[in-house]
Amino acid sequence: MHEGRHCVKTQVAIIGAGPSGLLLSQRLHLAGVETVVLERHSRDHVLSRIRAGVLEQGLADMLRAAGVGDRMDAEGEIHDGCEIAFEDNRLRIDFAELTGGKTVMVYGQTEVTRDLYKARDAMGGTIIHNAENVALHDVDSDSPYVTYEKDGETHRLDCEFIAGCDGFHGPSRKAIPADRLKVFEKVYPFGWLGILSETPPVSEELIYSGHPRGFALCSLRSRVLSRYYVQVPADEKVDNWSDDRFWEELKSRLPSDVAADLVTGPSIEKSIAPLRSFVAEPLRYGRMFLVGDAGHIVPPTGAKGLNLAASDVFYLSNALIDYYRADDETGIEHYAEKALRRIWLAERFSWWMTTLLHKFDEEAFDVRVKRAELDHLVHSRAAQTALAENYVGLPYD
Ligand SMILES: Cc1cc2nc3c(=O)[nH]c(=O)nc-3n(C[C@H](O)[C@H](O)[C@H](O)COP(=O)(O)OP(=O)(O)OC[C@H]3O[C@@H](n4cnc5c(N)ncnc54)[C@H](O)[C@@H]3O)c2cc1C
Repeated sequence: MHEGRHCVKTQVAIIGAGPSGLLLSQRLHLAGVETVVLERHSRDHVLSRIRAGVLEQGLADMLRAAGVGDRMDAEGEIHDGCEIAFEDNRLRIDFAELTGGKTVMVYGQTEVTRDLYKARDAMGGTIIHNAENVALHDVDSDSPYVTYEKDGETHRLDCEFIAGCDGFHGPSRKAIPADRLKVFEKVYPFGWLGILSETPPVSEELIYSGHPRGFALCSLRSRVLSRYYVQVPADEKVDNWSDDRFWEELKSRLPSDVAADLVTGPSIEKSIAPLRSFVAEPLRYGRMFLVGDAGHIVPPTGAKGLNLAASDVFYLSNALIDYYRADDETGIEHYAEKALRRIWLAERFSWWMTTLLHKFDEEAFDVRVKRAELDHLVHSRAAQTALAENYVGLPYD
């Protein structure tokens, strides 16, 4: 194989066709900036992943502005509150009332990705699937490039910038020299066992439940598609969980009136996701930027993962558009700093909510403090407002 045998040039090479890569490509294309997206998997594989489902208003607005909001507006559900439950107590957090009318949109990440693919196709966007061994070169020079293999041949993509949208395991973060990369990490001793079932959701709003047996979440994708989770040990195996066992465990962790209303049925997807808090710094190295899960991970409590990817895309797309339209490098210079400020605020919130609602191997003192914190949440409007304003999403600036 000869490197450079197939040589293409673009302005921004985007690695990864997850929501970050596709949304960035769409926003840049609409502003006249050329991109090529390289994706390791097939389109079918990308569209088979079941992940996030709660979109902050900032992301929903960005999807509309990118011309991909119609189906979300037709099929998504606006939620103006959620519930925090602990044992038999239920507390409604009224987002709209506490934040001056802000809400979230419940619409699956898979559907967001599907809508973005459709828009990229309609605009003739280039997405190269099954790109193997993607490697970044000369990222700290003025002429970076990316190589990859496809159909047994090596290809070279020359570019002016590289956007690393390749998730937690992709190659972009590794392109930062070890002596420049700082990693901040917290790994939790548990994961979330989740199932998707074609059953009506037990509640129209999400219920986050902290229970002595462990955390549980009642979530949904639509009126006929439910997503439920229970906290399990980090080394647990999906095969140990029949549907019956899952439903019994879920019921045991919910307030009794919620458990009584739960409609069960066969699962159509079942998986375990580990919980991790992770931030890589810097998010920029030379002409390469880390975006979304490539640069940071939050535990899913608080639904911030996809939304943080979106705010990174917002900052980076605006920075690149300013660069190409007005020869203005200010946004590029400040991308990492701006994105990291919002990332750390979301890291704090996700860590707080995870700590409050999950069962840890903790001392009796810590258990009592958590109970007091829930008590404070129930009785303090200020505490509820703090939760609500973080949940609906902090401003982008
Ligand atoms: C199992 C799971 C469940 C989740 N549940 C929730 C949730 O309930 N709520 C929430 O808010 N967030 C959740 N998240 C987080 C959320 O899904 C992510 O934050 C979001 O997907 C980030 O988007 P991204 O585009 O940055 O990364 P990704 O979606 O990971 O996309 C990265 C893309 O890069 C591609 N790629 C990787 N390596 C390479 C390579 N070498 N070459 C080319 N392409 C490559 C991948 O195939 C993928 O398509 C979950 C994540 C996981 C993994």
